[in-house]
Amino acid sequence: MFSIQPIGYIQSCYQEKFGIPRQPNLVSEAKARINLLETFSLESVRGLQEFSHIWVIFRFHLTAEQGWHPTVRPPRLGGNQRVGVFATRSTFRPNALGLSVVSLSGIVECNGQVSLELRGADLLNGTPIIDIKPYIPYVDALPHAQAGYAQQAPLSQVKVRFALQASVQCQQKSTQWGVNMELLIRQILQQDPRPAYRTTQQDHREYGMRLYDFDLHWRYDADGIEVLDLSEGSLPHTKH
Ligand code: SAM
Repeated sequence: MFSIQPIGYIQSCYQEKFGIPRQPNLVSEAKARINLLETFSLESVRGLQEFSHIWVIFRFHLTAEQGWHPTVRPPRLGGNQRVGVFATRSTFRPNALGLSVVSLSGIVECNGQVSLELRGADLLNGTPIIDIKPYIPYVDALPHAQAGYAQQAPLSQVKVRFALQASVQCQQKSTQWGVNMELLIRQILQQDPRPAYRTTQQDHREYGMRLYDFDLHWRYDADGIEVLDLSEGSLPHTKH
C-alpha cells in the first residue's frame, strides 16, 4: 500500500462531468490552469517552458468512489459493445487515474503560487493533479501505432448555430472570461456530448451543462444543434 498526495488542482471551465470532451485537444479554445501547491516553487518547473505540451496525470475524483467493472461500453463503439476496462480510457477504473496530453501555453507565479496555463484539457474544475511530465515527441508520438476501435478521431461534427439571444450573451461572457465563448461552445457541442445511444434516435429534448458561472442550454433538431441561451445560476441538469 502507498498513498499519493496531489501536487495541485486544475481550474477549468467545466463545472460538471456532462459535456466535457471525451479526450484532450478536441476543444482547443478551452483554457485551464494547474495551480500547484505552495510546496512546488518555480524551481520545480524550471525548463518546462521549453515544452509545448505536457502529460497530466490526475485523479477522476468525482467518480472515484463509484468503483469499476472489468468491462466497459466505450462511446466510440456506440455504447453497446463491451471491452475490458484496460482497453478503454474509462473514468471508472481501479485506481481512478487519468492521463491527458495538453498544450502548455505559459507558466506564471503569483504571490508564491505557480500556475501552468493550459489549452485543450478534458478535466473537470477542481480535479486533483497527481503528476506532470513533459511530452517528448520522439518517444511519445507513434504515428503508426494500432489503436483498435479508436484508430481515427471521432467523426461527429454536429452543426451548431446560435439563437440571437445566445450570441449576445456569448459576447458578454467572452469579455468576462477572456475566451471566444462562441467558439468554445461550438467546439464543445460539435463533439456531441449526448450518450451514444441517443445520437442514433430522433431527439428534440433540451440539454444543459454548466460552464464557468453559467448554464448553457441547447436542443437538437433536423439541422443539428441550436444554442438557446446562457443563463445565470445553477439549474438541475436532469434532462440527459
Ligand atoms: N484523457 C483522459 C484519459 O484518457 O485518462 C481522460 C479520458 S476520460 C474518458 C474523459 C472524461 O473524464 C471527460 O469527458 C469527463 O467526463 C471525465 N472527467 C474529467 N475530469 C473528471 C474528474 N475529475 N472526475 C471524474 N470524471 C472526470
